Amino acid sequence: MTSFQDFGLADPISRALKEENYVTPTPIQAQTIPIAITGRDVIGIAQTGTGKTASFALPILHRLLENRIKPQPKTCRVLVLSPTRELSGQILESFNAYGRHIKLTSALAIGGVPMGRQVRSVMQGIDVMVATPGRLLDMVQGNALKLGQVEFLVLDEADRMLDMGFINDIRKIVAKLPTKRQTLFFSATMPKDIADLAEQMLHNPARVAVTPVASTVERITQKVLQVDHSAKPAILAQILKTEQVNRALVFTRTKHGADKVVKGLVKSGIPAEAIHGNKSQNHRERVLAAFRTGDIRTLVATDIAARGIDVDGISHVINFDLTNVPETYVHRIGRTARAGADGTAISLVAGGEELGYLRDIEKLIRVTLPKEDRRTPGHQQRPAAAAPAQHRPARSGSHNGHNGHNGHNGHSPRANDGAPGSQGPRRRRRPGGGMPQSDRHEAGRHEQSRPSQNAKGEGIQGVAFLHRESRPAQNRPNRNQRPQRS
Ligand code: AMP
Repeated sequence: MTSFQDFGLADPISRALKEENYVTPTPIQAQTIPIAITGRDVIGIAQTGTGKTASFALPILHRLLENRIKPQPKTCRVLVLSPTRELSGQILESFNAYGRHIKLTSALAIGGVPMGRQVRSVMQGIDVMVATPGRLLDMVQGNALKLGQVEFLVLDEADRMLDMGFINDIRKIVAKLPTKRQTLFFSATMPKDIADLAEQMLHNPARVAVTPVASTVERITQKVLQVDHSAKPAILAQILKTEQVNRALVFTRTKHGADKVVKGLVKSGIPAEAIHGNKSQNHRERVLAAFRTGDIRTLVATDIAARGIDVDGISHVINFDLTNVPETYVHRIGRTARAGADGTAISLVAGGEELGYLRDIEKLIRVTLPKEDRRTPGHQQRPAAAAPAQHRPARSGSHNGHNGHNGHNGHSPRANDGAPGSQGPRRRRRPGGGMPQSDRHEAGRHEQSRPSQNAKGEGIQGVAFLHRESRPAQNRPNRNQRPQRS
């Protein structure tokens, strides 16, 4: 088995890894580091939670050390692009942790906070800049940052960045970079548009990937409650009151929906908070900190807002709204049951379109989920199938094309990015066309839509998720503590 010593990383980096208690490289690290350390471009299929950040941060830090130069004013040597503020913050934290014995200079360029401090932080020139594309472009266009000295470019969660409509910003940024650079490109899925983008940006890349996601899903107790749509708020409150909930992450499809769910819960006497793209950065940080410490046990989030959040001890993931994108279901439930801990994922499924989404999800994860009928008698649209979870072979073909529904992307990347100059929604349509009349009024509020499968019709890839351990130990919940009701 590979160990970190085998990579020949510079001594200050090895020391930092020891202090982080990293002993064995994860599969994505074992595959990526030996290649990236030679300077070759890499295209990787891996999700957050697989140790992907270290797989690009470690070889980059090593190469920075091999050629220590002082960055020129208003420039950076490493540019990491990521889709969300939260993920950007976590990436920067990782660089600083692994680079703690190097005199590393680093900064964030993310939306949602005033630009002044970010402008000042790059004035003298820095080693590592981690940024969301919208804000970065604003800084470049405002002459606060020049990209002509970038030696290393990382695109993290490229599929998510494209879903969020960042493609034009990314192209503009890449056009300003030197052609002679090392590029490391990571995505959880590899549909054709992502593969095409990678093709244009990478030079003779090595390809790395980690094993299928099904193994992650198997460790989570999943169930479906068949419910009447109007009864969802009451059933959610009931779950939170009766289940042994340590921390619950509740997903809604829209920002408006998240706010409504929080209002309903608070009315039922259950403290809850929402995070989504309309909330200020301060609010998000405060709420996340409270969720981490356990002061708030129920967090309601949209998919984009939840992306990149890594909180230990989430006992329950509850899909208040089922997602129309099967991979998103996997991302959602992957927030619980991390590193072998127990986790429960409960999906509230009303009839109609959500039944179609459920079929797509079951097809992707190759599991027939157990179902419990909580509908009011007389409202049943279909008989409930109370089948135990069981594996079945994958079927080829579209995961999502059968019903022609497509959750449109009404999300404005700049709005989420928080950068000024927010532009209107940029939508990606999935093949398969229209949307039922009943959905149309909601479409503008849907935060995301993404292709359900890659170009070859394969499911997404991933490995068992790891915990993010970089925050101080005293802030981490004790995972052995007796779960409490929220
Ligand atoms: P990431 O997928 O990069 O977000 O990493 C998920 C979590 O796993 C983070 O808390 C990392 O600190 C942690 N981690 C990454 N690599 C290792 C490793 N080789 N050993 C132990 N923990 C790791």
